Amino acid sequence: PSISLYQLMERSAQDYPGRPAVIDGDREWTYAQLQTDVERLAAALYSRGARKGDRMAIMLPNSAEYILSYYAIHRLGGVVVQVNPMYQPSELEYLLQDSEAEWFIGYREQAKKLEQIGMEGKLYTIWADPESLEEDSLYRLISERHNSMPPLEVNPREDIAVLQYTGGTTGRSKGVMLTHYNLVGTVYQGFTFGGGVRRVEERILGMPPLFHVYGMSRMNGTIFNAQAYICLPRFDVETVLKLIRKHRPTGFPAVPTVYIALLNHPELQPGDLDCIKTCGSGSAPLPVEVMQEFERKTGVPIIEGYGLSETSPGTHVNPSTRRKAGSIGIPLPNTDSKIVDMETGMRELPPGEPGELIIKGPQVMKGYWKKPEETAAVLKDGWFYTGDLATMDEDGYFYIVGRKKDLIIAGGFNVYPIEVEEVIYQHPAVAEAVVYGVPDSYRGETVKAAIVTRQNEQVTADEIIAWCTERLARFKVPRMIEFRTELPKTTVGKILRRTLLEEEQQRRL
Ligand code: ATP
Repeated sequence: PSISLYQLMERSAQDYPGRPAVIDGDREWTYAQLQTDVERLAAALYSRGARKGDRMAIMLPNSAEYILSYYAIHRLGGVVVQVNPMYQPSELEYLLQDSEAEWFIGYREQAKKLEQIGMEGKLYTIWADPESLEEDSLYRLISERHNSMPPLEVNPREDIAVLQYTGGTTGRSKGVMLTHYNLVGTVYQGFTFGGGVRRVEERILGMPPLFHVYGMSRMNGTIFNAQAYICLPRFDVETVLKLIRKHRPTGFPAVPTVYIALLNHPELQPGDLDCIKTCGSGSAPLPVEVMQEFERKTGVPIIEGYGLSETSPGTHVNPSTRRKAGSIGIPLPNTDSKIVDMETGMRELPPGEPGELIIKGPQVMKGYWKKPEETAAVLKDGWFYTGDLATMDEDGYFYIVGRKKDLIIAGGFNVYPIEVEEVIYQHPAVAEAVVYGVPDSYRGETVKAAIVTRQNEQVTADEIIAWCTERLARFKVPRMIEFRTELPKTTVGKILRRTLLEEEQQRRL
């Protein structure tokens, strides 16, 4: 069924008006209140000229203000432009120009950045600070109580709901056009996969940032299910533990680095996460060792899923009742996925053979914003080419072995970084590790590992090499090891191999 994102929220407000929808610090909205405020905000924006199809940037952390803005924009038929609030002026400038945004919603702390790039007068700006009631501030708009605006008019299949800029882990960020059909589709897929029951009593601690596709989509799922969304504005272990003690969430979607941070934090006690029934992990590989140690320590299972900005994002989930360690699981309902050869992208490969993972389904994007060539390069015959290398086993479970771009070719042999990382993670002294290829005049590339050790643990490069030699074919064993106090990461917590490679190049100059 084709409905719009606003209607997801509207249905929950009709069915469960009194249930908690959003919890942000000490403030709480029921579904009825959420809908009323969204409707009023949309009407006030309409009165100031906002119209269907307008690009409206949201630059906010996980907060009630984000959620109000998001659904108000959808009430208008506008396009949400996702902006990471940590972006610096030059990144912000690129994104605002590329998206041709006309509206900007953010906290006042962003004003300086807009000024620096000369955008402050060019955009219709709404300041969203909770305490601000001046002209054109978000809560002032809500308090104006406009009631009249035309009925919702959205074509879910065609209309872009969100311009989701890719994380930029591998290069310049592209605007992914996600339609209402894509984003509602992914919510339905998750719902069906989870058993097709709306468990309204669940409370979700919203860790993944809302400006990222994982967090945004998970929020839509929470709202569709009429569950409570608890805002986590910024991740640190203390805040997470505090929010868990206070709000007793039952679900905790997060990213692998969060589990690594929790595990290595002295304050985490057995029983701390007792209220949580399942944790979710996505957006980067979750090392098996980390998953198992986390589950041993806390007793809470982690369900891993896989996806990309281009697929709204979910395509595969490891089913909780038939889980296979190290796998991203099976395709979601209505999702086709297969492994094809890397050279032509046409030949389907048999189980066990690594190749490129390609996907077809309702969650696959409409294309990249204003980038027809890039779109044509990844969308062929309705199949989306993920750029990730994977294998499928005899039971139809998929395993990510790495990104095409990260594949290391050492002396003619393919080395998949994730396989080597898994082995390094098994070493008791290792907290975090990343494996990448560095140029080598003899082999073309050679395998290097950057490692962060656990607090109060020590290990030498030779010991790591010996550890890997016992467990891996020689050509996969890292020849270079670098110990670091931390690894460079994106704001979503993905390890930036790109930065490590740039550092490597600098060193060699
Ligand atoms: P960019 O595409 O701009 O480089 P990005 O990688 O941050 O940035 P996203 O769309 O956020 O863009 O991330 C998608 C990628 O994340 C996938 O292509 C895949 O490499 C990785 N990924 C997501 N989930 C998993 C998972 N469960 N296991 C392994 N890798 C994953």
